[in-house]
Amino acid sequence: MSRAGLRFWSAVLAFAVFMVDVLTPLEGAVAVLYVVAILLAARTNRRNDIIIAAAGCIVLTVSAYLTSHDLHEIASPALRALVSLAAIGVTTLLVLQNHAATTRLAAQARLLNLSHDMIFVRDRGGVITFWNKTAEQTYGWSTEEALGQLADKLLRTSYPDRREAIEASLLDSGRWEGRVEQRTKAGAVLTVDARWALQHDHLGKPVGVLETHTDVTDRVAAHNALVQSEQRYRRMFDASRIGVVEEDWSGLRTALDALPSRGADLRDYLARHPDFVRHARGLARIIDVNPALQKMAGASSSAAFIENVDKLLGENDRSFLDALVAFAQGERFHEGETELVRLDGGKVPVLFTITFSPRSDDDHDVLVFVVDITERKQAHDALLAAQAELAHAARVATLGELSASIAHEVNQPLAAIVTSGEAGLRWLRRDVPDLKEVATTIGHVVAQGRRASEIVTRIRTFLKKAPAQQDVLQIGEIIAEATALVARELAKDDVALIVETARDLPPVRGDRIQLQQVLVNLLVNAGQAMSGRPGSRTITLRAGTVDGETLAITVQDSGPGIQPDDLPRLFDPFFTTKDGGMGMGLAICRTTVEAHGGRLSVASTPGSGATFHLTLPYSQEHALP
Ligand code: ADP
Repeated sequence: MSRAGLRFWSAVLAFAVFMVDVLTPLEGAVAVLYVVAILLAARTNRRNDIIIAAAGCIVLTVSAYLTSHDLHEIASPALRALVSLAAIGVTTLLVLQNHAATTRLAAQARLLNLSHDMIFVRDRGGVITFWNKTAEQTYGWSTEEALGQLADKLLRTSYPDRREAIEASLLDSGRWEGRVEQRTKAGAVLTVDARWALQHDHLGKPVGVLETHTDVTDRVAAHNALVQSEQRYRRMFDASRIGVVEEDWSGLRTALDALPSRGADLRDYLARHPDFVRHARGLARIIDVNPALQKMAGASSSAAFIENVDKLLGENDRSFLDALVAFAQGERFHEGETELVRLDGGKVPVLFTITFSPRSDDDHDVLVFVVDITERKQAHDALLAAQAELAHAARVATLGELSASIAHEVNQPLAAIVTSGEAGLRWLRRDVPDLKEVATTIGHVVAQGRRASEIVTRIRTFLKKAPAQQDVLQIGEIIAEATALVARELAKDDVALIVETARDLPPVRGDRIQLQQVLVNLLVNAGQAMSGRPGSRTITLRAGTVDGETLAITVQDSGPGIQPDDLPRLFDPFFTTKDGGMGMGLAICRTTVEAHGGRLSVASTPGSGATFHLTLPYSQEHALP
């Protein structure tokens, strides 16, 4: 019922009692029924309503007494009126007290409702008597639904311990704290930190329990995820075949910060101060080292590894210096290759990656991953050796084709030597020998002899099984040497060679003989493709630049071109369409070019020739001003 309704019915009741009191001769204390009107007014929960109702009832009781009784007959009617007034007074007092207590409780409940925790009160029997707003929102039951329910049953609580033991500890200390699982109305399982406090009545008898629940489901999930991730990391650390060492480089940071040199000068400074680098190695504090790395280093335990860490990198190791520079420059990680000196003295080639923390103030967690590349190195060396063998075989084969050219080239200076020698003899045999002319002719003999020797040297170097070199090369010179080697062969087949080299091409880095061999192969192939064919036979060799970063060479012929079916297999080893061909030339050319960081490809329209495209990166250190 609304407040206005309660007030109305309270007034109606009081008036009815008044009428009965005045109009009927009832002997009983009808006025006592005013108490009901006051109780009705009290339900509005307003102090003023109670006071007004009480005052009204008193006025009505007194009025009824005065109007219906003679003032002289004071005895029993007056007594009844007094009893009624006393009843009204006592009721009003109790109702007002009750109102004050309810107001206080409501204020407390409002406070509890403000809490972010779920709070409820249950009596000793476990029945819920208070249920706050957060409990409504989180657990899903409204206050009306929750009140009167058994808390454990409603929330399907699962406890970390036996329920009786928990209850006993609560009774014993008046409090209990623990982590429990609750189910919401929707069926979700929540993990909550529960705090219980025993409530007592004024005699000290336990009457109920105030439970406060903090939802820690997300926190627990995050914690579990962290624990799992930690365990996963631990498993990876322990079981990995990759060596891992965890280090603290904060001491190194302090030492580097104290150096006079920074930035670009640091590398120079460190190179000039090997003592500092050695000292710095000792500042990288090892926190943990996994079994794989212990095994790689031949250490029986992580303690043995840590004890001997100074011996693990050889005296001439430069990898630590490079790592220091990367660390000082704020790199996120640094990779390199070095050699580990095992505790038994053996050497292990390794690849390593160091990961630094992204925050420069957190250098406590530097991870170094180390991979043993002994097997890979052996396989690589074997591959290089096989490649060199093959390249040599192919060179010998190419030289077979070039023998006529060699003979011709050497023959020419030899013929010139003979001619010059004869001329010299003639000057000598004169009646008066002309020594000046003799000297000139001997000069010619020497020069031609040198030329012949140079040709032989060039051919011998070309044939030699020398390891690859890393020289700075002018491509113009390589083109000139390669074309000189094939000139005779091409001339024999009546092939015209046009060379167009752009001016001022920057140098490339690589092996002179290998690159020469690539060009010789492409030119010989082009010549052979056109040999014996009608029409003009031309090879155009162009050298220029692409995007200012790459050298591009094309070798274009006017031969039959390549059949589309053959194109995908052209660079495969042993693919040949020639009788007696080896099919190694193009395979080796491609490997060589790729080993130089470049690419080799071909384009061809059958019937109108083939064009081989070769690119090589410029040598960076020489391209820079
Ligand atoms: P080989 O010369 O011993 O056959 P290569 O690997 O040098 O081995 O060449 C493989 C094949 O590629 C040749 O047999 C030939 O069919 C084809 N080829 C190479 N260059 C050309 C070219 N310029 N024009 C047409 N075909 C070519």
